[in-house]
Amino acid sequence: MDSAPAPDKSAAGPTAPAPRIAAEGLVRRFGPRTVLDGVGFAIPAGQVTCLLGPSGCGKSTTLRILAGVDVQDAGTIRADGRLIAGGGTFLPPEARGIGLMFQDFALFPHLSVADNVAFGLPRQAEGRARRVDELLERVSLKGFGPKYPHELSGGEQQRVALARALAPRPRVLLMDEPFSGLDERLRDGIRDDTLALLKEAGTAVLLVTHEPHEAMRMADEILLMRNGRIVQRGAPYNLYNAPVDRNAAAFFSDVNLLTARVRGALAETPFGAFLVPGVPDGAEVEIVIRPQHIRIDFDRDGRGPAPTPEQGTAARAIVERARFLGRESLIEFRLADGGACLKATVPNVFLPKPGTTMWLMVRRDRCLIFPRV
Ligand code: ADP
Ligand code: MG
Repeated sequence: MDSAPAPDKSAAGPTAPAPRIAAEGLVRRFGPRTVLDGVGFAIPAGQVTCLLGPSGCGKSTTLRILAGVDVQDAGTIRADGRLIAGGGTFLPPEARGIGLMFQDFALFPHLSVADNVAFGLPRQAEGRARRVDELLERVSLKGFGPKYPHELSGGEQQRVALARALAPRPRVLLMDEPFSGLDERLRDGIRDDTLALLKEAGTAVLLVTHEPHEAMRMADEILLMRNGRIVQRGAPYNLYNAPVDRNAAAFFSDVNLLTARVRGALAETPFGAFLVPGVPDGAEVEIVIRPQHIRIDFDRDGRGPAPTPEQGTAARAIVERARFLGRESLIEFRLADGGACLKATVPNVFLPKPGTTMWLMVRRDRCLIFPRV
């Protein structure tokens, strides 16, 4: 294999700089199993991209191939427009200018914090000690240099690992579930601090996570992955509000599902008919409703609120259970007509008694309609 690739000018446009890291058509097979099936993306400098998907979908495999510790069966990887893997080229990990940060941090236990951070810097480099101090200060660990990893909390160790990964100023940083070992309570703060530092460094970041909350919080762009493929990509807002299918919708929050058979381009539901243009008669559709898009109204002598174009018809429902979750309350209903269960959330405290009759309406502009799978 060629380990000294020539710059490939065709990949860089005349004006826009080439992405810091780009993959195209990555395929990886383990025996009979195709674990990556045509994965591609491009990450420019200063952007945080999250590779999000359930366990086993191929996220870590993607990262390992980018890092050069595994090799793809097909597809290419370019860094700043230069081919680094694929098509007969293979640049070894240490020649890729890619930083790594994995789940267990793996600080060297026998090295001090300062030596851990300095690990990736050339031994004789001028300003080595200065760079270490600067980074420790930046991750709020000023003065921690002489300590050893076992003297630090989990959050402090994570910050040392981040400082170590950033010390050689990598052009690309790959992070595999970097916050998963941390206390839930600390996580959001550490995520925000990490994000600020990454933005400041201008690094292109690919962060792997199976937690939608983490991806929403960290990402400029999310790559939603399933069974070795990227099924949707875009800003967090787009993935949440315009998911490609029911499973993509359900990945980001609890959802309510209503199934309806189509007749005359209409899907009849307990909330009235939904227009489904182009769907043939007899086909089934699924209507996905997030719990916060259900409106709850009180019963007035057996009558509910009048239908509106925005919210359709109200459906009568009986409270099954109501729980206070802190920022919101979760109320579970059973529809009087048909018996389907629906979950609704409302801000603050709302705890109607089980058995209470109420009326539900849905925000039609927020309902998502998909062919039934
Ligand atoms: P994720 O990080 O999304 O949880 P991985 O990329 O680690 O998933 O793994 C994807 C799939 O590939 C899993 O089913 C895993 O068992 C399989 N796999 C990963 N590495 C190997 C390997 N070296 N040999 C065989 N199967 C592997
Ligand atoms: Mg993994």
